[in-house]
Amino acid sequence: MSENTNNSPLTLVSYPKAIMHVDCDAFFASCEAAVRPVLKGKPVITGKERGIVSCASYEAKRRGVKRGMRLFEVEKICPSCVILPSDYETYSLYSQRMCSILRRFTPDVEEYSIDEAFCDLTGLRRVYHCSYEKIAQKIKEAIEKELDLTVSIGLSISKSLAKICSKKDKPSGFTCIPGYELHKFLKDISLKEVCGFGHNSVALLNKRGVSSVYEFVNKSQDFVSNALGKIGRELYLELKGMAVYEVIRDKLEHKYLSISKTKTFMPPSDDKDFVKAHLFRNTESAFIKLRRHKQSVKKITVYLKRQDFSCHGLEAELNRHSSSTMDFTDIVEELFNKIYREKVLYRATGVILSKLANEGCDDRTLFDDILKIEKLKSLSKAADKLNGKFGKHMLHLGATEFLKTRNSNVHPRANVSDRKIELLKGENFRKRLNIPLLRLK
Ligand SMILES: [Mg+2]
Repeated sequence: MSENTNNSPLTLVSYPKAIMHVDCDAFFASCEAAVRPVLKGKPVITGKERGIVSCASYEAKRRGVKRGMRLFEVEKICPSCVILPSDYETYSLYSQRMCSILRRFTPDVEEYSIDEAFCDLTGLRRVYHCSYEKIAQKIKEAIEKELDLTVSIGLSISKSLAKICSKKDKPSGFTCIPGYELHKFLKDISLKEVCGFGHNSVALLNKRGVSSVYEFVNKSQDFVSNALGKIGRELYLELKGMAVYEVIRDKLEHKYLSISKTKTFMPPSDDKDFVKAHLFRNTESAFIKLRRHKQSVKKITVYLKRQDFSCHGLEAELNRHSSSTMDFTDIVEELFNKIYREKVLYRATGVILSKLANEGCDDRTLFDDILKIEKLKSLSKAADKLNGKFGKHMLHLGATEFLKTRNSNVHPRANVSDRKIELLKGENFRKRLNIPLLRLK
């Protein structure tokens, strides 16, 4: 079906640009093992506070544990699994350290997420007197030696390609694709491996007779523009080896990597509306904080804690980033209905926002309802304005109206990481010294 079915290279230049993508392997679990070496080689998962797996070590994955799985299922299939509460403080410190190692090699470092970064290595061969592959290898070794955790590296000639490469051979992968090998490499890559192609884009391309990335890059630019518009054309060029997206320095600044809000109530309650009202209040509060810090979110986790302290949660992801509360209310309702059980006493509710980006992050896809998105955005802005003037939660979601007639006040401290409990001198729950707690035995 391709319009240009020759087998010639897409470019003969090895590295017109040298873009590297670093992705930590099972990052949260690896940080835990780096801090507590006794955990090395064991099945470890994090996410105890939410009741679902947030990260699983490769040993746990090998036993069938998957992200998002509920903890009681984990206990069934992998009883020896070490289940830990998340310690975002330590993860964030490890993330900062990784980026400072990267910045020793190049100033062009983009912190893409807590455990991923892009680096532009273009031009550095002369500085290090070696190939780009060798530089990438040195960086990998430096991170693994200094942080005691493994990373997967992808090196190629555009960001999109580097990201595909780093996924190729996890854990501890090292995949370098210079320009002249690109045409061979892309033959084995499926469309869904491309960051930026969602289900809809893949389905659309399949309908137009394109089933692999190689077929896609051999189409004409007009075909791609017609089918997928601007975003599609940019990805097309990136996959052809023409870097469109730049590595943007210091993108994340000092922003939150996740935001969580939780509420414990006494006595525990089996009143569905009451429990739901608290969950929606958590959601409102989390989004207020999100907007105050000019960030947007893609993923939400919802959990309910029962009287016996067992935690039951579920997570869902939007296909784009958003800072509007109303973009997530239907999702929260749906997740709540899936988790909630009649006649069970609940003692706490909670919401965690993760996969955060800066507020302006525009990753809407072709199929989004732009008008609705903008409306919800201005609604949230208006609510923030009103609440700023008349008091927090003055304007609130209908489901939380219920809270006006009830009240309760106990602060939750259960299931927090050791790092928040074993304080160092000069620290309190909020004021931190930015040092992870090492447990060498
Ligand atoms: Mg990772």
